[in-house]
Amino acid sequence: MNDAAAAIGGADRIRAVKTLVIEGEGTQYNLGQDVTPSAHGQTFTVTDAREAIDVAGGRMRIELTRKPNFAYFQGPQPQRLAQGIDGNVGYNVGPNGAATRVPDAVANDRRDALLQYPITAVRAALDPMAKLANARTEGGESLVDVTTAGGQAFTLAIDATTKLPTRVAARADNTNLGDVVAATSFADYQDAGGLKMPARLTIKVDDFTTAEYRVTKQAVDADTGDLAAPADAAKAPAIASVPPATVAVEQLAKGVWYLAGQSHHSVLLEFGDHLTLIETPQNDTRALAVIAKARELVPNKPLTEVINSHHHFDHSGGLRAAMSEGLTIITNQGNVALYEEIAKRPHTIVPDALAKNAKPLMVKGISEDTVLSDGTMTVNLYPFSGPHSETMLLTYLPRERLLVEADVYNPGPVQSFAANLLEQLKKRNLRIDRMVPLHAKVAPYAQFVKDVAAAQAAAN
Ligand SMILES: [Zn+2]
Repeated sequence: MNDAAAAIGGADRIRAVKTLVIEGEGTQYNLGQDVTPSAHGQTFTVTDAREAIDVAGGRMRIELTRKPNFAYFQGPQPQRLAQGIDGNVGYNVGPNGAATRVPDAVANDRRDALLQYPITAVRAALDPMAKLANARTEGGESLVDVTTAGGQAFTLAIDATTKLPTRVAARADNTNLGDVVAATSFADYQDAGGLKMPARLTIKVDDFTTAEYRVTKQAVDADTGDLAAPADAAKAPAIASVPPATVAVEQLAKGVWYLAGQSHHSVLLEFGDHLTLIETPQNDTRALAVIAKARELVPNKPLTEVINSHHHFDHSGGLRAAMSEGLTIITNQGNVALYEEIAKRPHTIVPDALAKNAKPLMVKGISEDTVLSDGTMTVNLYPFSGPHSETMLLTYLPRERLLVEADVYNPGPVQSFAANLLEQLKKRNLRIDRMVPLHAKVAPYAQFVKDVAAAQAAAN
């Protein structure tokens, strides 16, 4: 640690740093939301990024503009993001200037991210109250485990030759992936304010690169502006955990219920001797509430399986809960390897339902049109590939003339993926009365056709 401090500019100089202002540009990737589970091609171009850090005060605000380089569901226009942390209060500032407090878990991640920088990491480690342990050499790097006075833990790696920090890594929780290593790597050190600061930063979650930044300008003890949490966020109550799920039931047909209520919906199907859910989304809280509601609605038949619409993390985040309840997962064949991986990953930092109640994975991969039928209920499953995801499953109920899909069509004016869906459905000559989106409201098929036409007219 002394070597690292000396290489950066000296322990006294590091302790004296009040603020850091770092400007740059780069690329963000789309972890958990790309077109296939293994794809890495969807990016956002980041410009005008500015991070201001109050080093001693533990406050930070980052603002940046990001423009999607793919068919993004929010549209192609650049988004301006502003996020901050002030002590225990994490907040986002919307384009309208309104600040909202973020959940404590997000605020914790931001506090950890504050230490993923050479000066802040070494400064925290130089604190006499910090604990250093397990000094070791791996390859061309020297590593040491640090626990700060405040209880934050990370590993600092320094280059064995230059002694400059190469990486800060910390264990973190991810709803879908469980225990992960969140790491930032540093390269291309430059002189600024009597210190060495990296001009290239690469951020990873395990092996997945989530962002790469090039620093265009950096300053020590420059004016940061006001880094206090905006009043609306500061006075908002802490969000200690995922809010409770509300499940609103709407019967769509005999043996078919829409389980909506918040942002992500499910559908319950009643077969002759069992129940099937479509979608256990988001997280344990949502998935377990939907599963409980299904069992409450039809208590005399076992719930045995869940049809998963696609691999995106917000739609697969409840699959481990489904596994813990003994459900078989039916998904596009292209997602099976991911779910096998997700089933066995450790969740020790935040033990989830499956960690507390281990069950073997039961998964059926669907690679061609498949019919689930027992005379009472008939369900057609169609593997579907579009610009939103190439490993989707559409569910069609031929008797009820319902088409269930996620993310591709939400009734309303902006429909970037809906034209592709309409085209593919037309080729199948399906008789559809109602579209059942897992993110929006049920809509007549005629409205779907009208929305697509309006979107195409607007695009031309
Ligand atoms: Zn999606």
